[in-house]
Amino acid sequence: NAERQCVYSVGGVSRYLRLASGPPTLDLLALAPDDLRGTLRFAIARADRGQPLVTTGLCKTSVDGAAVLFTIAVRFIESDGEALHLVSFIEQPADRDPALLPQHDSAAQMRELERQLEAAHAELSRAIQSRDALVLEQKAINDEALSVNEEFQSTNEELLTSKEELQSLNEELIALNSQLQETLDRQRIASDDLQNILYSTNVATLFLDQMLRIRFFTPATKTFFSVIPGDIGRPLADLQSLADDGDLLADARIVLLQSTTIEREISGPSGTWFVRRIFPYRTHDDRVEGVVITFIDITERRRTAAALDEARRAAERSNRGKSRFLAVASHDLRQPLQSLSLIQEMLRLNVADPRAQEQIERFGLLLNAMTGMLNSLLDINQIESGVLEVSAGPFALADLFERLRDEFAPLAEARELELRVMPSTVTLLSDPRLLEAMLRNLLANAIKYTPPGGRILLGCRHPGAMLRIEVWDTGIGIMADQLGPIFDEFYQVDSPAGARGRGFGLGLTIVRELGLLLGHPVAVRSRPDKGSVFTVTVPPAPAGEIVAQRAASLPQAGPTTGCTIALVEDDSSVREALEALLTEAGHTVISAIDGPEALALASDGAILPDLVLTDYNLPGGMNGVVVLANLRAALKQHIPGIVLTGDIATEALAEIELADCLVLSKPVTAAKLHAAIRKVTPDGRADSSPGPQRPTRLICILDDNPDIRTAMLSVLGYENWQVTTYPSAEAFLGAETAPEIPGADRCLIIDTNLPGMSGLALIEKLRAGGDSLPAILITGAGDIAMAVQAMRAGASDFIERPVSRRELIDSIERAVSHASAGGARSRDGGATAKRLATLTKRQKDVLEQVMAGAPSKNIAADLGISQRTVESHRAQVMQKLGVRTIPDLVRAVLSAGPA
Ligand code: ADP
Repeated sequence: NAERQCVYSVGGVSRYLRLASGPPTLDLLALAPDDLRGTLRFAIARADRGQPLVTTGLCKTSVDGAAVLFTIAVRFIESDGEALHLVSFIEQPADRDPALLPQHDSAAQMRELERQLEAAHAELSRAIQSRDALVLEQKAINDEALSVNEEFQSTNEELLTSKEELQSLNEELIALNSQLQETLDRQRIASDDLQNILYSTNVATLFLDQMLRIRFFTPATKTFFSVIPGDIGRPLADLQSLADDGDLLADARIVLLQSTTIEREISGPSGTWFVRRIFPYRTHDDRVEGVVITFIDITERRRTAAALDEARRAAERSNRGKSRFLAVASHDLRQPLQSLSLIQEMLRLNVADPRAQEQIERFGLLLNAMTGMLNSLLDINQIESGVLEVSAGPFALADLFERLRDEFAPLAEARELELRVMPSTVTLLSDPRLLEAMLRNLLANAIKYTPPGGRILLGCRHPGAMLRIEVWDTGIGIMADQLGPIFDEFYQVDSPAGARGRGFGLGLTIVRELGLLLGHPVAVRSRPDKGSVFTVTVPPAPAGEIVAQRAASLPQAGPTTGCTIALVEDDSSVREALEALLTEAGHTVISAIDGPEALALASDGAILPDLVLTDYNLPGGMNGVVVLANLRAALKQHIPGIVLTGDIATEALAEIELADCLVLSKPVTAAKLHAAIRKVTPDGRADSSPGPQRPTRLICILDDNPDIRTAMLSVLGYENWQVTTYPSAEAFLGAETAPEIPGADRCLIIDTNLPGMSGLALIEKLRAGGDSLPAILITGAGDIAMAVQAMRAGASDFIERPVSRRELIDSIERAVSHASAGGARSRDGGATAKRLATLTKRQKDVLEQVMAGAPSKNIAADLGISQRTVESHRAQVMQKLGVRTIPDLVRAVLSAGPA
């Protein structure tokens, strides 16, 4: 082939070629003997397409020691496009040996040699040409190699810088890695800490993922579920709960959906209790990725709460017991005190001996002291039991001062003290009854602790926006270090001068407590042996307030004479003393020991008294109020009444208030009794005249208590109104409608606590049926929730026992006019709305809760303040709105419309 490699041989070529030493080769020239190589190369070089056959001259070789002559024929052939040479060794007869050839053949040989030389030359020059071409090629390759080398070098440099960069990157990575490692370590520690905290709290804690599968739990969780570490990843629903907690999964789903927290008390195994709290599991970017459930053991807390509750109930029981005991004791003690007081007066009138008179006087003072002590015991009992309701409103201070002067002037005179009461024209905003109790205690002390010949002064200053009521005395005074403690319960200053006529050390405590309840600050300044000043700071009434005009104080003049008095009293000693005293004063007395006896006398026509004077607690099934009502009904006359009572129970006071009569607390002094009689008998009547010009009304009374029905019948019947009574709502609904009186308005008065259908339900039923009949609800004290509910249900008005005749009639008039005005909001709604706007935030909070019907205790707990503060806020709200009672408050706020 072109590389002069043998590709195929045939025949006896081994005679002409031989295997050369060295690695085996197919190179034809290498296989040829040395002396043949040039000829062969030359012949092959010459044979080409132009001259396909070249034959050499004779060549010589030896085979087995014999010389062999041959020629070489080289033929150029092309096979499948490849250039090949066919080399044939052709044996020649021995006679052609050149040595045997004739001489002339040497010229031919020369020619042959020349030809060969020429051919060799041509081949050489071709070889040279091809070497030059090769050299050029080599040079180009070299150049290229050089430039490649340069490229390599620059690449190498780049690689070097890259390597450096990589190295610095590597260093940074190492630093980062160590930081990461540190962070990981810290995180591991934090995680360990957290786990330790979780485990040490012993609070069962469970983390669930969004599919409510367990992610983590503390060992304490085993109390609630039989859970093992292998349960991580399992749905919580698969685990068996050991606690009674059916809502767990539902709650967890709600927490997931709404991202809220749900807390529930659940009972655990063996009588334990837990607070189960579920809250969302929040990631640092505030995504919710599951829930956390904790179970906190509250068994002990519940036990303590139950024990506390029991203790509180026991305390309340004993407190109620104490109150009951005091009420009973009060009643029982007042009877003999009453007799003693009347007997003392009789003695004073009938004994002439001056020494005996002196002793009777001292007897009177002792009686007073005893009465005072009894009163303070009862006052403090009422304050402590929390039954005192503040009912603040505007009133004239002069009225209060006058009452106090009436009461204390005789006492001061007896002790040879000068009592001055300064005239006053101011009106103030307070609860007159409770403020009077405060001042009464201060005046009693002033009298007690001022030696004969001293002076006492009661007055009022208005240095700024507030009013200051002051009680001055020129008495023994109080040391500076005692000025604080004297207000403490049972605290008394240890001084011989004070030992006379001491009380229990409760007077100033009552003053302080009432001051707190009313929001009236109390202060004292004093100098030993010079005297003391006690002050009570009260707010003035807002300008333009209508001041309830109080009846004039009891007349100072002597007793009226010539009245016929029906006296009902079961205690013989009191009755006899009263009979004697009243007869002595020129009255005619008809006595009965109880209601039935008094009524019997009346129906006989035996009495037509000017006045009924009755005890409240009477045997025979009728109390004083019922006796009075029955007597008025039987005699068809609104006879003035005075009820004497030693009863402090609120229900009793409520009933008495309704009866439109005067109430006197036992023991009453002769002077007070005379003054009262003078007040209620025709000449001195203030508040008992009927209203004949009033339009006729049809009144339906619904009350299950027959006594109250009778009392109301008597009060309203006196107005010349047509009154029907029903014991229940069902009876009212089932009754035939009373014949209408043309032009007469109808009005219902309903007790809230009816048996069967309640008052509230009845109103709701009427309103649902489209009946707008005015309806007034009457309830026991303090039910604010009920008041709000009633007004919202469509009650025209809501009044609270005790209700006086005046309040009842006013309420009826209001309800009727409200109904005829088509139920429009009262016209002072706008004014109330303005006043509401002046309330502070706290006052509004308190009002809102009061309107929601929450008791003070709950409001206090809710707002985190004391009950007393709540009551003081409520009192201030009522002052600002100018209302006296809770129903008034509800009415006012509802009239102002929605806030
Ligand atoms: P009581 O008068 O029943 O002892 P109080 O609580 O009313 O109890 O008064 C407490 C003490 O304060 C009295 O014991 C008395 O020493 C002193 N005190 C009260 N008022 C006066 C006063 N006007 N002058 C002097 N001391 C007084």
